[in-house]
Amino acid sequence: MAVLPCQVGFHQHRLRNVNVYASWYVGSMTQRHSARFCPGHWSEIESGLSQFEVDTDSGALSDPTCEGLCLTCLKPVTEGIGQVFLTSYPTKDQRKDYWARIHTGCNLPGLLGSYFPHQ
Ligand SMILES: [Zn+2]
Ligand SMILES: [Zn+2]
Repeated sequence: MAVLPCQVGFHQHRLRNVNVYASWYVGSMTQRHSARFCPGHWSEIESGLSQFEVDTDSGALSDPTCEGLCLTCLKPVTEGIGQVFLTSYPTKDQRKDYWARIHTGCNLPGLLGSYFPHQ
């Protein structure tokens, strides 16, 4: 049994939680959140982020055509510009980073929006 429950509904499970850290920059304001998810819920969340995964060495997005698009609505962000950095630790020795722009009026997508609320 994992010591701490998954953030989604605080359900108990027997697997290792994925720790996720989010930083959200809008103008001069920074918001930081952290959460933990069971592998199932995290893979559901991650499926909407994969194009924004950052290659640790080159800093390039896994899908360069997504650069400059909003994390949530996938439209170009030319005004109301915010940025979101996400770091996940899917296993003890693994780290994955994501970076995207986000409209200041858009919430984080799907489950992330529920657990990393925009204040
Ligand atoms: Zn879960
Ligand atoms: Zn948007």
